[in-house]
Parts: sequence; C-alpha cells; structure tokens
Amino acid sequence: MLIYEIMKLFDTHAHLNFPDFEKDREEVIERALREDISLINVGTDIEESKKVIRIAESREKGLYAAAGLHPLYVGKKDFKTKEYATLVKNKKVVAIGETGLDNKGEEKEKQVKIFREHIKLAQSFNLPLIIHCRMAHREVIKILKEEKAGKGVVHCFTGSLDEAEEYLKLGFYLGLNGIIFKMDFKKIINALSLENIVIETDCPFLTPPPKKGRNEPLFLRYIAEKIASTKGVFLQEVEEKTTKNAIDLFLSER
Ligand SMILES: [Zn+2]
Repeated sequence: MLIYEIMKLFDTHAHLNFPDFEKDREEVIERALREDISLINVGTDIEESKKVIRIAESREKGLYAAAGLHPLYVGKKDFKTKEYATLVKNKKVVAIGETGLDNKGEEKEKQVKIFREHIKLAQSFNLPLIIHCRMAHREVIKILKEEKAGKGVVHCFTGSLDEAEEYLKLGFYLGLNGIIFKMDFKKIINALSLENIVIETDCPFLTPPPKKGRNEPLFLRYIAEKIASTKGVFLQEVEEKTTKNAIDLFLSER
C-alpha cells in the first residue's frame, strides 16, 4: 500500500486534466493538497488517461489516477485492452474507469461490450471500477452480476433507493456530489449508511452552492456539509468515514 499523508477528505472523482484547468492547474492542485484533500483524476479516453497519470506523477502523495473510456466516447473511439493494461501497471492508477452505460449516448451495444471489457481489466488487476451510469441502472446492475464484479463506486449516483440497495449488495459504494443540491436526495442520503458513501466533486462540473462557476476539489467540503446536515450528524464523522471508505476502496491494493 502507498504511504499516504494525513488525509482529511478524498475527492474520488475529479477532472483536473480538462482544459478548464489549463491555466491554473498547479494552483488548484496546491489548494486541495494544502487542505489535505486527496483526489483521483478520472480518465475518459486513452489520451486523457495518460494525462491523469502524468498529473498524478507530479506529486509523491495525494494525487491518483483512473484509466478508462467513458461510455459517451465509445462511438468515436475504440477500447484496446492492451493499451489500457499498459497504463494500469502504473502504481498511481487506483481504478478502472470511468466506464458504464449512458442512455443519452450512442451505440448501446458497443457501450455494453466495452463496459464488460473494463470489468475484466479491473478484475485482472484487482482494482475497483469507477462507474458512470445515466438512466441505465437496471442494465448496469445486471452486467455487474453477470461479470461477478464486486468492487467499485457508482459515481454521481442518481438512481432509486432500490437500485442503491442492489449496488450495496454487490459491494459497491455510491458516489455523491453537487447533484445532491439539484435533486431531492434527502430520502436516499438518510437511508444510506455513511459506510456506503464516498464523495466527489466531478469538477469542473456540478459546483455546489454557495460557490459559482467552475468547480474544484477544494469545494468538496460543501458536499460533506450537506450530507452531515441532512443526516443530522457531525461534519467530522462524514469526513472521516467517507475518507476511510475511499482509502479502503482505492488504496488497499496500491
Ligand atoms: Zn467524470
């Protein structure tokens, strides 16, 4: 396992590789690391996966990477397992993804085929999956069961309580982000145990109030605060449990 510094929060889904951060990426990273926020930048194709690894390699601690092909890009790009497997050998890669199914995307059959290939890759390295799912939870759950996938996170979870329970039974965590301010998540948050939750920004997207404009890992605490106030627990408890969950999930093999 990598030796990690004291971690206050863990942003399990960021895209600091995106052009939105081209001008001040270093400052954004420093702002997060200074506050003991560790983070995973998540790859969306082969080039971006290489880029998130380069970013992770720029620091000894606190920055990690995930390699994968986003379901919205399968129409334009191929998934060559060998190419991704080469990247995954890098110790900074702590997950496979993002992968999954997106009902708004094209080429549904190709999405399914590539999703299954990601699952097999994750299993061969014993790494967790970072799953992107939009309006396709039933199908994602069915595929996870068929492939016997049992480790990962359903990022930006927006499914029903029944679907949440199915994922938990399979051993997955649910990733909550700024979308909890946009939809009514009270029922889901209250039904979930903190043992089952990891938190994320999905930056540059989904900026949580009171912030406006581009999101960044520093704003992760607003997600933790919202979960704490909804559940009526101390902020520190949310911080400690979600960070521990992220460490257990992503760093135990590294
Ligand atoms: Zn993402």
